[in-house]
Amino acid sequence: MAELCAPDAAAFAALAGRLGADRVSLAVDTRERYAEDESTRLHCAPWAVVRPRSAEEVGATLAWAAAGRFPVVPRGAGTGVAGGAVAVGGGVILGLERLDRLLEVDEDNLTLTCEPGVVTARIHQEAEARGLFYPPDPASFESCSIGGNVAVGAGGARAVKYGTTRDYVLGAELALADGTLLELGSKNVKDATGYHLLGLMIGSEGTLGVITRVTLRLLPLPRRRAALLLSFADLAAAARAVTGLLRARVVPAVAEFMDDVTIAAARRYLGRDLPGGAAAGAYVLLELDGDDAAAVERQMVRVGAVAEEHRALDVLAAEDPGQQARLWESRRCLGEALRAWSPEIGKADVVVPRARVPELVGAVKAIGAELGLTAACFGHAGDGNVHVNLLRHQLADDAWQARLPRAMDRVMDATRRLGGLPSGEHGIGVLKKPYLERFLPPRSVELMRGIKAAFDPQGILNPGKVL
Ligand SMILES: Cc1cc2nc3c(=O)[nH]c(=O)nc-3n(C[C@H](O)[C@H](O)[C@H](O)COP(=O)(O)OP(=O)(O)OC[C@H]3O[C@@H](n4cnc5c(N)ncnc54)[C@H](O)[C@@H]3O)c2cc1C
Repeated sequence: MAELCAPDAAAFAALAGRLGADRVSLAVDTRERYAEDESTRLHCAPWAVVRPRSAEEVGATLAWAAAGRFPVVPRGAGTGVAGGAVAVGGGVILGLERLDRLLEVDEDNLTLTCEPGVVTARIHQEAEARGLFYPPDPASFESCSIGGNVAVGAGGARAVKYGTTRDYVLGAELALADGTLLELGSKNVKDATGYHLLGLMIGSEGTLGVITRVTLRLLPLPRRRAALLLSFADLAAAARAVTGLLRARVVPAVAEFMDDVTIAAARRYLGRDLPGGAAAGAYVLLELDGDDAAAVERQMVRVGAVAEEHRALDVLAAEDPGQQARLWESRRCLGEALRAWSPEIGKADVVVPRARVPELVGAVKAIGAELGLTAACFGHAGDGNVHVNLLRHQLADDAWQARLPRAMDRVMDATRRLGGLPSGEHGIGVLKKPYLERFLPPRSVELMRGIKAAFDPQGILNPGKVL
């Protein structure tokens, strides 16, 4: 692969001349605003920020970069937590936030087509206003972009029943590394026409092409929802209950869990007692949905029976939206609650086969205890995706710097032993890169490198990410 170059002032002036001066910024304050993502573990101000307003301008930017061999880092809303949208090692940020037009809701074909900078919450609203439903719901849905969701293959709480972003992308337009625009997929529901290049793009984290338009599949909106909070003495009992639900043929729309430390963090943060009292060592939060009250009611009855069988300490149910929001408060506040308790946190987003969640959490707790770090786990019980948080608390700087990588390494080893993977939904970016080759067979990494070379022979697209 040829060596990459940094554009000089004349090259930036040529790009600004082609796109318009307001599209290209070299200002220090702008570059600083694009120096991090939400992982906040990396800080690299890019050489410049380019913010096009159309797919053609994205293509022109890439053609310019290809001609000069300039590295380009596509960026949506910057809410990623793996360092994927940070110009590590230098580069030009290609900000997609100005491509934010909702182009069409096709109620006959049940699709929505939009540009990549549309915030995910808007897609939910536009669909729901028409009695339709776009299920993927990353917890960052109010700020992340659909382009970023597709680029990472983002998940969310509803994955247990409805799957992730990957399951809803029917078509996309891409700007390739040489600036050419290419249509992949379509509104066709079925497609057995050659290799699934669209599938390759989903989760490629800006390393194979830049998404400039997406067509998403929509579903009819379930008319009724109910939320339940079940508390248990420990996580093993909670996990058995989730398996029990699936065995009883109840597939909740959402099945989240919280461990003892996250419950304590939420209690501290909210400043009030939480369901189950001091005996609660784990929560399972469920959302049930269906077309009418009777369908939801039937599921609630089965949940009640499973909860009793698995000795739930408490079961709280809420059917009106206000009560549901209150039940979810403890889960929704967790990001802030953990940060308020310990501003520095080492995070992992591992996934294991769902029945192995208690073993993984047990292993994480043991690693934390041995290395003097508080381990807090929460996440998606229904799909085995565990958000591991290792809290620094008062640990001295040198001890934290030395112990965190050791702890993460061991968390990854435990995940691998249990048949899991290093990322369930956040992607590899830069921060998980050391683990990719540990989990995947060498031959599949080699094939991935071949795919990267086929799409981006000069290696200008998001260099240093994923592989
Ligand atoms: C509080 C919080 C909660 C979160 N909860 C979840 C969750 O529940 N589930 C989940 O999956 N994630 C979650 N995330 C992570 C993050 O929000 C998602 O990964 C999201 O998909 C990133 O979207 P973005 O627009 O911010 O992308 P960015 O952070 O800007 O970029 C992410 C990656 O996508 C690439 N990219 C972005 N746009 C494009 C494009 N148009 N074309 C090509 N490549 C592109 C970038 O190069 C980068 O590699 C959470 C983050 C936070 C801060």
